[in-house]
Amino acid sequence: MVTLNLKKYFPIKGGVFSRKIGEVKAVDDVTLTIKKGETFGLVGESGCGKTTLGKTIIRLLDPDSGKILFDPEGSLPDDPSEDFKKYDIAGLRGKRLKQLRRYMQIVYQNPSTSLNPRMLVKDIVAEPLLVQKICKKREAEERVLEILERVGLSKEHLFRYPHEFSGGQRQRIAIARALITHPKFVVLDEPTSSVDVSVRASLIKLFKDLQQRMGLTYLFISHDLSVIEAMSDRVAVMYLGKIVEIAEPSELFKNPLHPYTQALFSAIPIPDPEAKKKRIILKGEPPSPANPPSGCRFHPRCPYAKEICRKEEPRLVEVKPGHFVACHLY
Ligand code: SF4
Repeated sequence: MVTLNLKKYFPIKGGVFSRKIGEVKAVDDVTLTIKKGETFGLVGESGCGKTTLGKTIIRLLDPDSGKILFDPEGSLPDDPSEDFKKYDIAGLRGKRLKQLRRYMQIVYQNPSTSLNPRMLVKDIVAEPLLVQKICKKREAEERVLEILERVGLSKEHLFRYPHEFSGGQRQRIAIARALITHPKFVVLDEPTSSVDVSVRASLIKLFKDLQQRMGLTYLFISHDLSVIEAMSDRVAVMYLGKIVEIAEPSELFKNPLHPYTQALFSAIPIPDPEAKKKRIILKGEPPSPANPPSGCRFHPRCPYAKEICRKEEPRLVEVKPGHFVACHLY
């Protein structure tokens, strides 16, 4: 999966005729690569554009511009941008977009709102197969049982409604529904935020197990840094619609380079009461994505801001092997 200069803006309408008077730049010029079989973590404050980016990548939202290069076989060439037309799903519509859905799925934060309370589990999980005409009802029933067992549920759960389950079990139903079409790429949007710590650990284990057994590639979105560290092979930090840093978690947590990442990570509690750690408190609130600051979007809050930061937007550059940062300090 590769995104090239991806943008997603939402119009702001106003006035008597409800004309467009501005736009919220939720995702602004995002270029990144998610490798086959990896878990790519995406972290940032709420409202920074993480969920919009995830939904745009799997085409639940239409991008305003840019490319999304995806091969359901998972074998994009080394430089797919040279042959992007063959792989670009950014402009797909109608039947071709519908066909794509089976390969790209999403698991939401709150299964209570993403599962229809009036449907039995067997129908909830089978629905994607039948809507996309992947198989007949008889085969769908077999596949439902198979996937339920894979996520740790069983035959006895088939004829129950979502409200009869605990929060962790409901999330397992949502996972089964997302995986029943055997997707290749799954967006996990804060999937452990609505459950307690012990259930969180079991869900993380389940995600890793399913990834191995089903050959899945994940985009794992979370504001919880400990979960991101436990799950991800690489992590991107997002601020106000932009990716500001990418690295492997072992490198990023030990050596965050971008001033925003440093502030974000300084809030992680240390289990050792003797250890001293200075928490970086940022000044001000994050600016509105409807009116982002010029140059570096972080400059009004950055303790190291220079003149150039107000004028020129920093590009994401590789400062060490596999460690990218967008900041004029590097
Ligand atoms: Fe701070 Fe300038 Fe770096 Fe932005 S580019 S994070 S304002 S030092």
